Amino acid sequence: MDEKWQRPRGTQDILPADAARVERLRRLVSSVAALYGYGAIETPVFEQTAVFVDGVGDGTDIVQHERYSFVDSGGVALTLRPEGTAAVARAYVEHGLSAWPKPVRLYYWAPMFRRERPQKGRYRQHQQYGFELYGSPEPSADAEVLLVARRLLERVGLTPQVLVNSIGCDVCRPGYRAALVSYFQERWADLCEDCRRRATENPLRVLDCKQDRDVARGAPDIADFWCAACRAHQDAVMALVADQGLAVVREPSLVRGLDYYYRTVFEVHDPSLGAQSTVLGGGRYDGLTARVGGAPVPAVGFAGGVERLLMAAGSAVAEDPVPRAYVAQVGPGRAAWRVGEMLRDAGIPTEVDLMARSLKAQMKEAGRRAVVVVLAGGQEWEAGRVGLKRLTDGREAEAPLVDLTETVRAWLDEHER
Ligand SMILES: [Zn+2]
Ligand SMILES: [Zn+2]
Repeated sequence: MDEKWQRPRGTQDILPADAARVERLRRLVSSVAALYGYGAIETPVFEQTAVFVDGVGDGTDIVQHERYSFVDSGGVALTLRPEGTAAVARAYVEHGLSAWPKPVRLYYWAPMFRRERPQKGRYRQHQQYGFELYGSPEPSADAEVLLVARRLLERVGLTPQVLVNSIGCDVCRPGYRAALVSYFQERWADLCEDCRRRATENPLRVLDCKQDRDVARGAPDIADFWCAACRAHQDAVMALVADQGLAVVREPSLVRGLDYYYRTVFEVHDPSLGAQSTVLGGGRYDGLTARVGGAPVPAVGFAGGVERLLMAAGSAVAEDPVPRAYVAQVGPGRAAWRVGEMLRDAGIPTEVDLMARSLKAQMKEAGRRAVVVVLAGGQEWEAGRVGLKRLTDGREAEAPLVDLTETVRAWLDEHER
């Protein structure tokens, strides 16, 4: 096929069977959101570029290398949303949600755009779900979002492995940063090219580098630098989730790739996914609203990729075929056409022939698509009756048209059991 007519590299078309799985996952996410009182929020697919450059931070990969930015015909610099948290923070500030009763719980499900190197389960346009809890500085807020993440993954059939760390605060992080810089200076020769730059600009991010795992392993541990408040916060989060039977492991090299995090950061892994095992990630981001034009508000949340979760999810999101009816036209006329809409009026998924097929061909088609066939037309139709056949067990009957919807529904229900 001419490349010109192929979808852009790193994007995907989602065909009906997969779309049905996506839809089931989406319902599952909303049901968990409802359980904990998170309300849906939708923001535009694009924002003014500053929301992401200032909000996410221009030292991050998603802003520096991966963003889809353009200037519209009015001269406005816009960027396709690469992640949800900064956009939600912008909306939170713009609509004055800090005046709402605290805490404010929000969730989203939305397409994101990043010009990444395409790989398994990672797309340049992909969907993410995310949960954001605004207004509480308490460790119980961090713990709640961890419990939301656990429940979500359990419903999808995963046994998540949770890694947690604290990257400290403005009081204690500078000391850690300085210790890291001097450690990386000693190991300069071992660092990859990107990390030599990061080592002075944003040394925490070196801990995140896939190529420099060995260097990261020997680095100073931030736990030795936590101030008393950060240590107490981290201990309290760990205790609260342990109280609910959620086992979490502290991972000293866990820092996350984004600049807005503060104290708690976490990742949830599913070991069955192999090398790309991260299912979702999140943390606390108390300073973010101040980066997008508001006052600082404490906040914590997480986000994950829908595609990755679908890969990990088993039968919990398997396609559930809907039992349908098929109305075959017997002889000339429009009986099937009328009965089709009549069954749909009663909420029964129904197909009728649109291909001018013979009755025999219609029956064959029904075998592929339906559980119950209604035969409409001919002399029976004149007498106000239709024929019925259940394809799964061969049961046949004739019914007065007035009883049809009830009979079809009963036959479909019996099939489901
Ligand atoms: Zn601190
Ligand atoms: Zn590196």
